[in-house]
Amino acid sequence: MEDNYRHKGLRKKLVEEIRAKGITGENVLQALEKVPRHVFMDNAFLGFAYQDKAFPIGSGQTISQPYTVAFQSQLLEITKGDKVLEIGTGSGYQTAVLLELGAKVYTIERQKALYDKTRQMLPAIGYDPKFFYGDGYKGLPAFAPFDKILVTAGAPFVPQPLLDQLKPGGRLVIPVGSGDVQVMTLFIKKHDLSLEKHEFGSFKFVPLLTEREWK
Ligand code: SAH
Repeated sequence: MEDNYRHKGLRKKLVEEIRAKGITGENVLQALEKVPRHVFMDNAFLGFAYQDKAFPIGSGQTISQPYTVAFQSQLLEITKGDKVLEIGTGSGYQTAVLLELGAKVYTIERQKALYDKTRQMLPAIGYDPKFFYGDGYKGLPAFAPFDKILVTAGAPFVPQPLLDQLKPGGRLVIPVGSGDVQVMTLFIKKHDLSLEKHEFGSFKFVPLLTEREWK
C-alpha cells in the first residue's frame, strides 16, 4: 500500500475541512488523519478519496462520507479498550477509524462479497477487528454486552436486540428512518437500564436491509 506525502497532505486538508464543519473531538480528527482512505476505494476513485463525500464501493454500497464517520465516532465517545459492535462493515473505513480510537471492534456485514473483500484487506494494512458475516438486526448475542454500538446504514426502526446488547452506561448511535434521509439518533442506557434518546439532524445512508430483502 502506498501512502505518500501527497496522500498525507490531502488528508490533512480534509481533516481541516471536517473541523471547520464543527467536529471538535481531537481524538476523532487525529484518527481520520491516520486512516489512508484512498486504500479503501477503487483506483479509479483515488482522486476522490480525500473529498468529503460518500462513494460507491461495489455491491450497490457506499463508503460513508468522512464528516459522517467523524460525527458518528464523536457521538460514541470512544475511550481506549471500549468493546464496540459495528453494523455494516462495508469498506471497513469506519472500522479502521474506531480501531485508531483504541476500540476493540466486532463488525458485521451481510453482503458476502464485501465481507470477503474487507476481511482480506483490513488486516493486510494493519487493522484487526473481529469480522462476522450475518444480520446486523440481530447484533451478536454471543459476544454481548458492548460498551458502544454503531449502525452505519439507515434503520427503519431501532432493533431491540441492539438495545438489549448495550452495557449499562453504553451508547448506541443509529441513523433512524425508512425514507431517503434518516435522523441521527443516540441512545444512552442509564445505570437503571432506562434509555435516554437524543436526536442530531438529518443524514443520508444506504438502507439497513432486513433478511427478507436480501438477495
Ligand atoms: N461503514 C461503512 C459504510 C457501509 S454502507 C464504510 O465506512 O464503508 C452500510 C453497509 O451496511 C453496507 O455494506 C451494507 O451491505 C450493510 N448492511 C445493510 N444491511 C445490513 C444488515 N442487515 N446487517 C449487516 N450489514 C448490513
